[in-house]
Amino acid sequence: MKCIRCGRNEDIENHHILESRFGGGNEPGNKEYRCRACHKYEHTRRRVLSALEYERSRGQKDRIAAYEHRLEVLDRLNIIELIRERGTYISYWSVNRTHRLPRRIPTKEEAEFDKRLDEDMAVFVAELTNER
Ligand SMILES: [Zn+2]
Repeated sequence: MKCIRCGRNEDIENHHILESRFGGGNEPGNKEYRCRACHKYEHTRRRVLSALEYERSRGQKDRIAAYEHRLEVLDRLNIIELIRERGTYISYWSVNRTHRLPRRIPTKEEAEFDKRLDEDMAVFVAELTNER
């Protein structure tokens, strides 16, 4: 048994093309083999797509943009090559870089600028305090 998507033969599961909650059964035409990673990816993708469809029907532009971004990240994290390489699925939420810019050591100029800003602010706060 091989995964219909990535071709791996580990952790093979039965994927229901039409989910049982939508009336899909165990008939042969409704099943395909997927590895656990591609199976999870497929179901997550469907959830994001249905959320996207819902937001599109409501015309919520900011939420549409957010879901489109989420879908793109999900797809890029789970391309076949990466699934084959790591053997697991990665969710949108499991990568810090999705949400945070990487920390960067400030340049000397930036550090000096920040220091001057802090000093100016301290003087400003001291002046305000003395006025009272
Ligand atoms: Zn697979």
